[in-house]
Amino acid sequence: MTSTLQPASRISAVYRLFQAGRWLAAEHPGVKGPGDWTRETAAAYVAAMDRATVGQWSTSAGSFKGHVGKPFSAATKEGVLKALRTFFSDCQEWGWIVVRFQPARALATPRSVRALIGPDPRTIADATWAKLVWAGLNLTDRDLSRPDDREAAEDGHFYPAALVRALVAVWLFSGLRRDEILRLRVGCIRWQAVNDGSEAAAGNKRRVCLLDVPVNKTGTAFTKPVDGIVGEAVAAWEAVRPLQPLWLDPKTGGRVHVLFSHRGRRVGPTYINAVLIPLLCRKAGVPAEDARGRITSHRARATIATQLYNAREPMSLSELQEWLGHRSPDSTRHYTKVSPTRLAKSYQDAGYFARNLRAVEVLIDQGAVRAGLAAGEAWKHYDLGHGYCTYDFFDQCPHRMACARCSFYMPKDSSKALLLEGKANLLRLRQEIPLNDDEVRVVDEGIAAHEELAARLADVPTPDGETPRRTDAGR
Ligand code: SF4
Repeated sequence: MTSTLQPASRISAVYRLFQAGRWLAAEHPGVKGPGDWTRETAAAYVAAMDRATVGQWSTSAGSFKGHVGKPFSAATKEGVLKALRTFFSDCQEWGWIVVRFQPARALATPRSVRALIGPDPRTIADATWAKLVWAGLNLTDRDLSRPDDREAAEDGHFYPAALVRALVAVWLFSGLRRDEILRLRVGCIRWQAVNDGSEAAAGNKRRVCLLDVPVNKTGTAFTKPVDGIVGEAVAAWEAVRPLQPLWLDPKTGGRVHVLFSHRGRRVGPTYINAVLIPLLCRKAGVPAEDARGRITSHRARATIATQLYNAREPMSLSELQEWLGHRSPDSTRHYTKVSPTRLAKSYQDAGYFARNLRAVEVLIDQGAVRAGLAAGEAWKHYDLGHGYCTYDFFDQCPHRMACARCSFYMPKDSSKALLLEGKANLLRLRQEIPLNDDEVRVVDEGIAAHEELAARLADVPTPDGETPRRTDAGR
């Protein structure tokens, strides 16, 4: 009686308690009321819910048709235990029962279950969504009134075509909750002038309009930009909408003109899921159910949010939070999952593999190779910038990123180097050398890391057998 939760949440909590009652009757018939629960009962309940299956503690399997016998999802387990935690906390706080255990601890969701709960928006596959958008934009009068089609007639399309088209456009492009859609007011659209400084660019851009969203379950009324298609469809409906009686909005207590109302009645809460979406699926030629379950109005919200988050120029999390009308960014995270395509691009852009490679230019003296002098005379020269390394296995030299200038070294300003660069038969190639962590640091951090590496290699012999320290001493 004192709960301030929304009716649907309240009903859901009551059904969770019924579930617990059925479990008690079967497993612990001696427990007659909340005051009889002990820490052991709570632990047994947590274990039972962890193993429970759909329909196991319910009287009717009607609403779970097709899922009966499947294990509870992690989110359902969390929901079931959260309802009990809240119930027992309230009972204790209000002094209805003696405190015999801490609900937050005794009925805590197991860590293994919590680990399975994360952002997993029930998005609709891109190809299916594209077909639904096409179907929504190409709805004909025949689609909406086909007396020869028994199935469509049973759907009860008694709303005018303009209303249905506006409803479809709002569902497909605005990412609103079903309740928000059905409570939109007449005059909820305002047009936004596109002005980015370039007339040509403005001509190419789609017109954007602003949609006034009424108070929702978590926040106050707000305004969001939506595609111009929504504004056009809503304007077309408003132009032919007969005057309707005012409706008392239970959330605000105000009397308002509801946009989607006809013949004195608001569009019913089940219309979108039960009639409109199946109609679009039929027209699009896609099944009304996919691997994630039935296509429902809320899945459009998840799909649009995920697409905006993964767009070429994506919306940031805070922008998306505003757009979806969320009070907390945690809620927004449940709708945003980085797509594998975007993840692959980000990984590619991060250049992890390229970062660990260094491309070195190699000069091949084809004349020396042809003359058969390859065994005795240098024919391969790795360009180090300041000089050439003539060691054939340069990539295996420990000093390759901090060259110790051993006897294989040829300074660029030496007469030998000038002679080499002047040769007409010189072949220039590039070779990629994998770098270790110290060498990557030299690339990333520059001189300091270079000197540090050189100091560490001071006593490591170069390919000619000398160490840098001895070579420096001899110079
Ligand atoms: S130390 Fe010698 S072998 Fe190593 S990179 Fe320098 S010149 Fe080449």
